[in-house]
Amino acid sequence: MVILLERALLESGPMKNIKLNQFTTPKTILLGSIAALALSACGGKEKAEVPTANAKPAITQTKLYTLDCGTIRISDLDAFSTAGDYAGQTDTFTDTCYLVRHPEGDLLWDLGLPAALIESGPQVNGIFTVSLEKTITDQLKEIDLTPKDIDLISISHSHFDHAGQAEQFPGTKWLVNDAEYAAMFNGTEAEAQYEAFKSLERVTIDGDHDVFGDGTVAIIDLPGHTPGHTGLMVKLENAGTILLTGDLFHRSESRKLQRVPQFNTDEPQTIDSMEKFEALASVTDARVIIQHEPDDIASLPKLPEALD
Ligand SMILES: [Zn+2]
Repeated sequence: MVILLERALLESGPMKNIKLNQFTTPKTILLGSIAALALSACGGKEKAEVPTANAKPAITQTKLYTLDCGTIRISDLDAFSTAGDYAGQTDTFTDTCYLVRHPEGDLLWDLGLPAALIESGPQVNGIFTVSLEKTITDQLKEIDLTPKDIDLISISHSHFDHAGQAEQFPGTKWLVNDAEYAAMFNGTEAEAQYEAFKSLERVTIDGDHDVFGDGTVAIIDLPGHTPGHTGLMVKLENAGTILLTGDLFHRSESRKLQRVPQFNTDEPQTIDSMEKFEALASVTDARVIIQHEPDDIASLPKLPEALD
């Protein structure tokens, strides 16, 4: 697994995944669709088939749980800005996954760093030092769930720090953007890092996707960082609209300054996605959670508590 991790780091690391460009299909993002998206939350798209509930703890109101999916120390942030203004800086990123418990099903968003890191301890590869303390499965136990209780999985994108623990969920439905799937399974030996995804039941999606058909949980198409990069919108009764960024932004500052990493598939497309995201955040008055930003994560409830 460590070898796989190293390969994943190499394939996904700064300056090493430029070949993802060949899979990019530039799309025009229709800002006009934002209002409709906000009002109907992607209404009109086909519904995902959600399995009937089993004996897991039932809920009547949607909840959003934050899972600790690792820590990433970065010895030189230069790779995180094409403007060159981060050179020589260091930072520590949170790596987070999320569980959306909806009355119609449970959606796991992102799969974090590989579980093998728990046994190996922190691993250094280039500018990254990555570590993990607890698997997703062990964290689900804290809220009386098992991997079999998870109905749906989706990842913001296929970089190593978001795709690490698929092996814990064999047979689970995987909602995957078609362009991201094509980039992952591209006929090269880099596919090996995604072996565990082959055990999932793939459901391909294209564009924004209303997960449960009621407008409360929607995968938002935000391509550019990778060919099929996505974010997640969750509408909660008390907490309001939450927007999870994926890696559209890595830090609060990179959101303010619209900084694009050097390891990025398509910069103009990424900027377009940033503008789409900001329009959606504005019209929904959303609370934005940058998944790698420690300050944003510190403000969220810790297991077994959730936003509701
Ligand atoms: Zn990331």
